[in-house]
Amino acid sequence: MFGQMMEFPLLISTMLTHAERYTGEAEIVSRMVDGSLHRYTYRDAHKRTKQLANALVKLGVNQGDRIGTLAWNTHRHFEAYFGIAGIGAISHTVNPRLFPEQISYIINHASDRFLFVDETFVPTLEAIGDQLTSVEKIFVLTANENFSTKLKNWEPYESLIKNESTEFEWPQFDERSASSLCYTSGTTGNPKGVLYSHRSTLLHAYTAAMPDGLGVSNRDVVLPVVPMFHVNAWGLPYICSMMGAKIVFPGPFMDGASICQLINDEKATLSAGVPTIWSGVLNYLDEKKLSIPSLKRVVIGGSACPEAMIRTFLKKHQVDVVQGWGMTELSPLGTMNTLKANQTSLTDDEKIKLKAKQGRVLFGIDMKIIDETGDELPWDGKAFGDLLVRGPNVLSNYFQNEDPILIKDKNNQEWFATGDVATIDPDGFMHITDRSKDVIKSGGEWISSIELENTAVAHPDVLEAAVIAAYHPKWEERPLLIVVKKSGTNLQKDELLNFFDGKVAKWWMPDDVVFIDEIPHTATGKILKTKLREDFRDYKLPEK
Ligand code: ADP
Repeated sequence: MFGQMMEFPLLISTMLTHAERYTGEAEIVSRMVDGSLHRYTYRDAHKRTKQLANALVKLGVNQGDRIGTLAWNTHRHFEAYFGIAGIGAISHTVNPRLFPEQISYIINHASDRFLFVDETFVPTLEAIGDQLTSVEKIFVLTANENFSTKLKNWEPYESLIKNESTEFEWPQFDERSASSLCYTSGTTGNPKGVLYSHRSTLLHAYTAAMPDGLGVSNRDVVLPVVPMFHVNAWGLPYICSMMGAKIVFPGPFMDGASICQLINDEKATLSAGVPTIWSGVLNYLDEKKLSIPSLKRVVIGGSACPEAMIRTFLKKHQVDVVQGWGMTELSPLGTMNTLKANQTSLTDDEKIKLKAKQGRVLFGIDMKIIDETGDELPWDGKAFGDLLVRGPNVLSNYFQNEDPILIKDKNNQEWFATGDVATIDPDGFMHITDRSKDVIKSGGEWISSIELENTAVAHPDVLEAAVIAAYHPKWEERPLLIVVKKSGTNLQKDELLNFFDGKVAKWWMPDDVVFIDEIPHTATGKILKTKLREDFRDYKLPEK
């Protein structure tokens, strides 16, 4: 017997319709490519999104067609998100930081019919234009009438929507229809596409918005630094629309100075981004002796958030850090680190230590860790194994790729293997110890590269640190610590290694330290360990 409730498909268009009707006055502020600030309301945003929808229908865009974006976090990208998915097409966010050949691979693989592109990325497209096989026309996200480009078939976005009606009836369709597409960075092999549905996007937004998730309310001013070209900015454009929270989009300006200025000028209460962004912000605040009094909470994820960062935010700036863990394949949030009722009386230091873990699952995600035979490992905070997840926001297959990816356990339940290695403690707090391919296998025992990196960056002279395995004749692999010093410091190997004393097990101690000028990063700002492993392939550890 079915329940007797109204049939309402969970569609992305409902979020913006709701925002216009109930919180239409709330603002969306964007820093544009030229540095100027653009300011309008959800009411205006919905009108322009409906103009875009009319234009797309006139262009002959059908349900399921892919439309690519290469764009910063701005109001126009926001309109593209909702306009494209709203009519039933698929908004394909392309990461413009990828190599040009990956960008053309992704656009061709997705068969994008149209592209919406910020001025900044036009040169990239000019360079690869000839290789794009499916793109019919490119719309440049600009109001600049004097803008010119060598691109063959292009038009300014503003002229596309200018004469369109602001009336549009959003179509109703199956909530399982595809809404958006995002490719993983592809640090190994070609990038792979994750195809979200309207249903998975809404379910993710509902749970991620909750107090034990990102914790977004109508009274928040949200600054999504995490790019909209990277897993839908962790769902924030959708979540903010659901809540009618004021949004402040930083455009291309993600350096410490620009972010701090936006936080203070717009009185941001909540922000989210990867650790690299926040070390820029904290360094800037420190250098200039500034504060960010409006900011209450910052969500940090994408790579492990060092304990030192959590401590500085809390002790110096009274900002609560909430660590989040997720993956493109999970829409993306899987766990968030918010305290349980029985942990609220812990001391600050105990809380900071706990917050360095990746946290508890959001509703809708189930997780477990397994050993090499597939047996589930205990939740004792010590045993570590491969982390598996399942749930309605977890992918079942990569886009246009038939290879089955889910694994079946002994109860015939299907799971997605994250490629992460983790522990889970008795309170259900998951702690990532490594990517399975980054873990250091020393004499059959595993050493966590993340823990060593976090220890190194706690040293005041260390700007960034990476730990990789180096070949060792006896132990097979031993940790090699690669460090970028803060400018003007003169840190030496022995001083840094002494700093590890008492902080990690003796046999985890890195065998050597190398100082370099810059650590390579992936397009999503993570340390590119494949490149480091290549650079240090023949590295000889000192004999002991
Ligand atoms: P890619 O970088 O390949 O595009 P994602 O952005 O989806 O992919 O990255 C997912 C991976 O990032 C996770 O599997 C995990 O290894 C890492 N990750 C994400 N958040 C955290 C975190 N808070 N702590 C440690 N690792 C994290």
